[in-house]
Amino acid sequence: MGHHDRQGRWPLHWKMALGFALGTVAGLVANLGFAQSEALHLLVTYLAEPVGQLFLRLLFMLVIPLVFSALVLGVVEIGNPQSLGRIGVRTLLWVLLVTALAVMIGLVVVNLLQPGVGLPEAARAELLAQAAERGGAIAEKGRSAPSGIELLLNIVPKNPVAAAANGDLIAIMFFALMFGIAATVVRSDGTRRFVEVCQGVYDICLRLIEWVIRLAPYAVAALLFAITARLGLDVLLQLARYVGTVLLALGIHFFVVFPLLLWLLGRMSPLAFWRASEPAILTAFSTASSSATLPTSLMVAEERLRVPRRVGRFVCTLGATANMNGTALFEGVTVLFLAQFYGVELGLSQQLMVLLLCVLGGIGAAGVPGGSLPVIALILATFGIPPEGIGLILGVDRLLDMCRTTVNVTGDLVGAVVIARGEPDAAPPAAPAPA
Ligand code: ASP
Repeated sequence: MGHHDRQGRWPLHWKMALGFALGTVAGLVANLGFAQSEALHLLVTYLAEPVGQLFLRLLFMLVIPLVFSALVLGVVEIGNPQSLGRIGVRTLLWVLLVTALAVMIGLVVVNLLQPGVGLPEAARAELLAQAAERGGAIAEKGRSAPSGIELLLNIVPKNPVAAAANGDLIAIMFFALMFGIAATVVRSDGTRRFVEVCQGVYDICLRLIEWVIRLAPYAVAALLFAITARLGLDVLLQLARYVGTVLLALGIHFFVVFPLLLWLLGRMSPLAFWRASEPAILTAFSTASSSATLPTSLMVAEERLRVPRRVGRFVCTLGATANMNGTALFEGVTVLFLAQFYGVELGLSQQLMVLLLCVLGGIGAAGVPGGSLPVIALILATFGIPPEGIGLILGVDRLLDMCRTTVNVTGDLVGAVVIARGEPDAAPPAAPAPA
């Protein structure tokens, strides 16, 4: 994937860290020394912010084609009736339930710890006002966010093109799901070709994301400069609390939920599972890409966890793009953190909507480093939270990406073990092969 070091150039995540450090230090210096200066204002308005905006726009640009094609492909793969009826249904249930559980853990933790609360009111008002100025339409839309029954009805778009034009993510997702379901049922030449086209669109989007993410170091520097120049040190403290919150929630899912699922449903010792899964876990952690880890997790499932080949291949392949516990959890925590940060109130029904969007967002995100960023950008916009907030997140994203990808991949393997349990040809108690 694109983050690999080529010909001795710096790996991307180090560049991002450098961008983060430079932007922050410069921003702090500016905040301390030149807060009132006109030149600083011009620099922020005409250089730092536009560079950050450019990056965000490029991400936004990819959301609709990416989410649409990923969801259609996901449904078509799950629903392939030839071989996979029962495994398919189980996998689908697994993906939805365990992902929802992950998001709930994230939402509970972020609501309890409130990592985004604490910015001085004046600073927050200023931030919001500035964001509203720029993305007026979007922020407006968020503030008049519908609630309750209307929120549910809005899942179904009256007009899918209008929904896409308005960045109405959930409606697009619904449309894509329906499209995928129908494409699974109608097995004609035409639908096959349509699915191939979706695959093409998806592949192209992945490549584009890779290119866009290469701009991230500059965007990180610019966005962090703009925000620390305005707000100073407070922001960094909050960022640290945010990182802690994400890691805690991911940790609960990884160290509590997975072992319980393995024990209760997979009848396998978590320790044996971890020992066997080690290569996949390490690959996921170091690449931050589920897709790049797929060959390793396939090997682990078949050879070390002794999952029957057809179950392992299906669950892991599908899971690499569609079963992302860590990513969905991360999306939920991030959206709520930024809502707290910018002082956007999200009530219970809106948080339920966040839950739903994140479960689907876990399916719709690509299994590459930073694959969930476009989805987050759009969820933010949906709730009237300034998408600039992504700039904050980006600075620390690599670490979080490594951790959430580890959870994603481990979730696929746990799923493979559990789903294989119910299959007639399951091997006797899964004993890991000697390393
Ligand atoms: N990097 C993640 C993965 O490949 C996706 C993401 O959350 O950005 O699983």
